[in-house]
Amino acid sequence: ARRCRCSVLQLTVKFGVDPARMHCDILSIGGFWHVSDLHLDPTYHLTDDHTKVCLSSKGFPAKNPGEFGDVMCDSPYQLIQSAFQFMKQVDQHPDFMIWTGDSPPHVLVKELSTETVIEVIRNMTHTIQEFFPSLPVYPALGNHDYWPQDQLPVSTNKIYQAVSDLWEPWLQPEALETLRKGGFYSQKVMQNLRLISLNTNLYYSPNNVTINITDPAGQFEWLEQTLQQSLQNNEKVYIIAHVPVGYLPYARDTTAIREHFNERLVKIFRNYSAVIAGHFYGHTHRDSIMVLLDDEGNPVNSLFVTPAVTPIKSILEADTNNPGVRLYQYNSQDYSLLITFIGWYYKNLTEANEEKKSDWKLEYIMTKAFNIKDIMPKSLYNLAVNFAKPHSKEFQKYFNNFLVSYNDKIVCDGSCKITQLCAIQFLDHNNYSACIKRE
Ligand SMILES: [Zn+2]
Ligand SMILES: [Zn+2]
Repeated sequence: ARRCRCSVLQLTVKFGVDPARMHCDILSIGGFWHVSDLHLDPTYHLTDDHTKVCLSSKGFPAKNPGEFGDVMCDSPYQLIQSAFQFMKQVDQHPDFMIWTGDSPPHVLVKELSTETVIEVIRNMTHTIQEFFPSLPVYPALGNHDYWPQDQLPVSTNKIYQAVSDLWEPWLQPEALETLRKGGFYSQKVMQNLRLISLNTNLYYSPNNVTINITDPAGQFEWLEQTLQQSLQNNEKVYIIAHVPVGYLPYARDTTAIREHFNERLVKIFRNYSAVIAGHFYGHTHRDSIMVLLDDEGNPVNSLFVTPAVTPIKSILEADTNNPGVRLYQYNSQDYSLLITFIGWYYKNLTEANEEKKSDWKLEYIMTKAFNIKDIMPKSLYNLAVNFAKPHSKEFQKYFNNFLVSYNDKIVCDGSCKITQLCAIQFLDHNNYSACIKRE
């Protein structure tokens, strides 16, 4: 029997996707959204003095500010609303949403406080609930979801308590209990699917609170126990977190979390790779993939980093990302990942600002853009091998998507490409270094 979920049908009609490529032969397909790095700037407003449009431009002039934002600023509320509006139109029946953190703006520490950080998270929580009143939402904390930023503590505090109260409609009591204590939780989200929301901000390099702690908030031990339990109960697990594991795709030899924490996390993920059906991160503001290999070099896990909704760039950066959100579709029998597509703010902000209307559309469907049959570890690994070929068109497409089509004129080759390729395939120190040397 062929039964396609209506979301698949909608995608088919809306974007002209060949149904055969949409896995309609699978009995049932589920779908979920992934949004990250909303970074609301409540000070954003239009004014003739471009240095005063938003605090997040840090005194530098906005480039071309309009209702829907500017590349020098974090998100105006209207941009965030337009993202959720788009998501509502594309898929009216997703199973759930994951939301990987960073709600407050990039401003100087003195411009915020514990109260204002809580206020922004409350605003974003309520906004999501207004747009999706009955949708289960699974959040993870980001390094900006604390004051002072990055310094997330290993025990309970005002912010962990506030989010536990705010997210009560979405989470069960056991999840709220660990969230209140350490900023992480796990929850069974379907018949045989568990979601683990990690507080990887505890391992983030700029977090000074955890420098001399071997297992901050006992999260490693908790993670291993939770995965062990899932293994015994025959559950599959989706891992979500803000700061990603592995190496940064744009900075040579740099992990986002401290290297020894990274080694330990990779080891745990390898040990339980059979239980883990997918990883979903944010934080870099870019669209990228990673493939976890086991000790023999076999691809065992697919990892996705979703692009930000905020378009902000610092004065030092030449490029940024267009705002983006992501939809995944999975096989609801075993929760394996089938398809992912990125919705993006396709008009440059300047154009949308001039027309005074937001415009989101499909950027790409991964399986279709790269001609792969699904987004499972083997398929992503083969894709990475393909990327490595000289002048690979696929890689150039991947790099264009990396910036959410912000600038398709930039070519990433030479050292830029090596850094990207090694980060996609190697998450631990030994294999990553060997890759850099070899290339
Ligand atoms: Zn961010
Ligand atoms: Zn972040």
